[in-house]
Amino acid sequence: MIEGADKYWNPILETMPQEKLRVLQLEKFKKIFQWAYDHSKFHRQLYTEAGIEPGDIKTFEDVAKVPKVEKAMMRDIQRKDPFPYGDALCVPLERVTEFHQTSGTTGQAVYQPDTWQDWEWWSESWSYIMYAQGFRDTDRIFIPFGYNIFVAYWAGHYAGEKMGCEVVPGGVLDTKARLLKMQELKATAMMATPTYVLGMADTARRDLNLDPAKDLNISKILCAGEPGASIPATKKRMEEAWGAKVYDHVGATEVGAWAYECTAQPGGLHVNEALFLAEIEDIETGEIITEPGHRGKLVMTALDREAQPCVRFDSKDIAEWAAEPCPCGRTFRWIKGGVVGRADDITKVKGVLLAPSAIEEVVRSFPELSDEFEIIVDKKGDVDDITLKVELVPGAVDQREEVEAKLVDQLRLKTNLRYNLEFHEYNTLPRYLVKARRFKDLRQAH
Ligand SMILES: [Zn+2]
Repeated sequence: MIEGADKYWNPILETMPQEKLRVLQLEKFKKIFQWAYDHSKFHRQLYTEAGIEPGDIKTFEDVAKVPKVEKAMMRDIQRKDPFPYGDALCVPLERVTEFHQTSGTTGQAVYQPDTWQDWEWWSESWSYIMYAQGFRDTDRIFIPFGYNIFVAYWAGHYAGEKMGCEVVPGGVLDTKARLLKMQELKATAMMATPTYVLGMADTARRDLNLDPAKDLNISKILCAGEPGASIPATKKRMEEAWGAKVYDHVGATEVGAWAYECTAQPGGLHVNEALFLAEIEDIETGEIITEPGHRGKLVMTALDREAQPCVRFDSKDIAEWAAEPCPCGRTFRWIKGGVVGRADDITKVKGVLLAPSAIEEVVRSFPELSDEFEIIVDKKGDVDDITLKVELVPGAVDQREEVEAKLVDQLRLKTNLRYNLEFHEYNTLPRYLVKARRFKDLRQAH
């Protein structure tokens, strides 16, 4: 038996020395770059215009010379021939077996074709995630999620099967029916967005008189879609509500599922460096950051995906490398605090950079406040103005003044900004089923 075979999904790759991983990544990068250059008109034109061709990639430093692909470029070429993907497609249309699209929250959706080989690669990448989070063939996984045109949890479903778990697709049920089914089947694990994990616990208590931590058997929850599982205060809320370990992972339709938390929970996520190349780029200078402790924008390459390759995709996700090795023994580097924001979401308010996740961390650290909140940035005359709406939980209604004073202090400390605080009655702010829209910037709307 290979050492660590019961600990890692792929004990050889996940514990490979860093220098060897770099060699592997460089070889794979050359291969996927050549593949895109040879098979897609879009990529070849992009590279030709930049004056670079596959033979020019000899060292790691050369990788940064390859032009990045922006989401907007993909939008422009799609819905054209070969319909509907356009000429980034690297395989004949008949080899495409899967269609998904991005959620389009930042503009028109991008279509994502995959071949059957790509689809197996998706399940493989998810198996790394789930195995690292303690999923085993003894688990019965409940997925309380309607699978549809978005890739979310499809691959989690297939990876669960691949690993020998029992997978219960809980899609076409309402929240109450899902909870009762989970209870009836004694499901041991589930996958959902942080917003829904908290929403389900709320419904269980309010409408079914069930305490998920006591009355259900869920011991681990795999989160996706929102940063919540990497925000300590939100993670703690979910773990307490469910009496379960909550793990984060990061993925994107165009990239794949590229980072995961392990059971050692070092305070960040491992990048799957066997299947992906993650580069962190300084937002101002564009230089590649290899040292820990310096935040930048992630540029992602999926090293093995064939139908519509992802070569140096400008992900807009913000992250930084962690300095210490993870106690779990994996040699894959990890990003501290997960993806800490999106270059798109981080906005300047009164000249100060504001990440909505920093506000979430403060609000969710107050047990007197409910899970819901809303941030509205607007203009009062020429001056930026931020309103934060929160709800006191039923037992804390008479503590409003002291909560308000502490909240003002904490927010100023963490974000350097002042807010108009609005306290709303419990259960009156909007509830979201999947992904929340808690941040609204109305400054451009006038
Ligand atoms: Zn680890």
